Amino acid sequence: MEPVHGNLIYEGKAKKIYACNKFDQVLVNFKDDATAFNAKKKSQLDGKGFLNCQISAYIFELLESKGIETHYICLASDRWMYAHKVNVIPLEIVLRNTAYGSLCRESHIKPGTIIEPPLLDFYYKDDKLNDPFLSEERLKLFDLASHNQIVQIKSIAFEVNSILEEFFNEIDLKLVDFKLEMGLTASGNIVVADEISPDNCRIWDQRIDDIQDRILDKDRFRNDLGFVVESYEKILSRIQAVLPKPRYYK
Ligand code: UDP
Repeated sequence: MEPVHGNLIYEGKAKKIYACNKFDQVLVNFKDDATAFNAKKKSQLDGKGFLNCQISAYIFELLESKGIETHYICLASDRWMYAHKVNVIPLEIVLRNTAYGSLCRESHIKPGTIIEPPLLDFYYKDDKLNDPFLSEERLKLFDLASHNQIVQIKSIAFEVNSILEEFFNEIDLKLVDFKLEMGLTASGNIVVADEISPDNCRIWDQRIDDIQDRILDKDRFRNDLGFVVESYEKILSRIQAVLPKPRYYK
């Protein structure tokens, strides 16, 4: 069901952000649109929006229970959530526990190599520039974050990674890598924003040995492996088996 909402504030590739009846909150609507390779590849996947909304709600509540601040408030309906309005910092913060994807394309590291300690990479969230890799020095030069903010962002990102890696491991899922976005609240706090879902995490099923069959994330869409929605459903059902139901707006 569609909750009562105000004007569309922003439309991204996978979500729409609407105003709601509180000036400091927004309603986030998760779409079924699937895109990859900077939107060069596009499709509609029935149920993806619902699954990513639900998975994100579970993960945000898990993070909150561990003391990590996020923009999430509660679910508004099956594919809508209330969130605090934040100024999103234009950074893609990528955490890597196992080598895959761009790290392997850009180096001689073999896919599947354990990265210990985990690697944190910054990318400039700018589609026109094709999300380029950033050094911390460039991040400061481009005025994307101050030294103190970078310290905070890194500390939050590593903590989120250890919480999520441990959690997914408990349900026989391997968190290979993932992308986080963070935002600034009106009071200047840095909080985790956007979504945490198989669209921006690489997740492998530890109960499956086959290197293609074990993939449960957006790589199934990127690489035409099929069963995209079914794989996201598998992740949700494993999460549902161990975590309390997320809260709905009353
Ligand atoms: N990722 C993302 N959005 C992006 C780029 C990457 O959510 O625009 C996620 C991706 O799903 C993966 C992680 O960040 O979980 C690392 O991606 P990588 O740098 O390996 O890039 P890719 O191989 O996907 O091009």
